[in-house]
Amino acid sequence: MLLTGAAVVTCIRDPEGRMNEEATLSADELTRYHRQMILPGLGREGQLRIRAARVLVIGMGGLGSPAAMYLAAAGLGTLGLADFDKVELHNLHRQILHDTPRCGMAKLDSALRSLSAINPHCRLVPHSQGIRAEDLPGLFADYDVIVDCTDNFPTRYMVSDACVLARRPLAYGSIFQYEGQASFFDPAQDAPCYRCLFPEMPEPGSVPNCAQAGVIGALCGIIGSIQAMEALKFVSGVGENLLGRLLVVDAATMAFRTLNIKRDLNCPSCSHNARIRSIIAQEYDGAAHCQNLDMARRDEISAADLQGLIETGHSPLLLDVRDPDECRLGMLPGALNIPLYELAGRLDEMEQSMPVVTYCHSGLRSMRALKFMRERGFKSVLNLRGGILAWIREVDPTMKAF
Ligand SMILES: [Zn+2]
Repeated sequence: MLLTGAAVVTCIRDPEGRMNEEATLSADELTRYHRQMILPGLGREGQLRIRAARVLVIGMGGLGSPAAMYLAAAGLGTLGLADFDKVELHNLHRQILHDTPRCGMAKLDSALRSLSAINPHCRLVPHSQGIRAEDLPGLFADYDVIVDCTDNFPTRYMVSDACVLARRPLAYGSIFQYEGQASFFDPAQDAPCYRCLFPEMPEPGSVPNCAQAGVIGALCGIIGSIQAMEALKFVSGVGENLLGRLLVVDAATMAFRTLNIKRDLNCPSCSHNARIRSIIAQEYDGAAHCQNLDMARRDEISAADLQGLIETGHSPLLLDVRDPDECRLGMLPGALNIPLYELAGRLDEMEQSMPVVTYCHSGLRSMRALKFMRERGFKSVLNLRGGILAWIREVDPTMKAF
């Protein structure tokens, strides 16, 4: 059962960068981990490897909740956490890191609270925002395994490509309605990558997201737990990873299938002919910063398409959610200004059935406005991708913005 080979040994580091043979486990740790340390093949050495390991979980949602909770509980030494979204009521049926009183709290803060309570020995490293997409490979190189728990294609492709560039393994998981998928990609072991399986990103809007297709929490639990298990096997040296294999779970019938994945010799990411040599934000649907990591770039309209609607007399209601100060320099024609912080109290100024396009400076606040409005029954809301900055760039360079 013990997995041998360079991949396992080289991934293990103590804070000084090497395996500490003299390391000891405290009485608390010995008691806490006893039931897993008596597992065949794991033992004290496996536990020390887990404690020496560094794993980054991206996304504190449906998959990230069980993944991060099991990793922390198992005694992982360093757990990086990336997210920038806030907890909302409709998250709670599946995102078990969070609870009802924490609605409105940053998911990262909620995750830190839950995980530090589960295991105070685990060092938690939050990554909230401000990391450029271009810097992802450098960030990933600081970790032994990356666990992708995001829910949108641009981020998934960006994370996979960055893992290949950083030569770090990726514990992949995704769900769609009753079906879940999981695999383990490792460029350092000559294994296929995510793009060997799915070479190009689907067109925006061509695959329904969770909000449109539906999602059930227990399946998130299954797949997120598998991702945690893959990471734990890798760092502890126990078992066999899902390298070159795609696990497909049909939760409706509980059928589990494993499909073999071949390495694509012309893979755009991991082959000798790879065209992806760096992470360029614009190539991932305009994702400028990985502060967008958990912000799906879906449900959006481009500036050019919005201009087309306006010019053909089909203008939706344009809702500017910036602060009044920001609007002084210019707004879209006919737009209504309701600052995001006033939106909850002023929803009655708009008809729920009316098509609305929300916008702000760069598209982040207005995405929150969109989510908020949909929760409150607005049927037809889109977000202007890239905000007024994109409008100025693509449609009206004479306008100004802060
Ligand atoms: Zn590949």
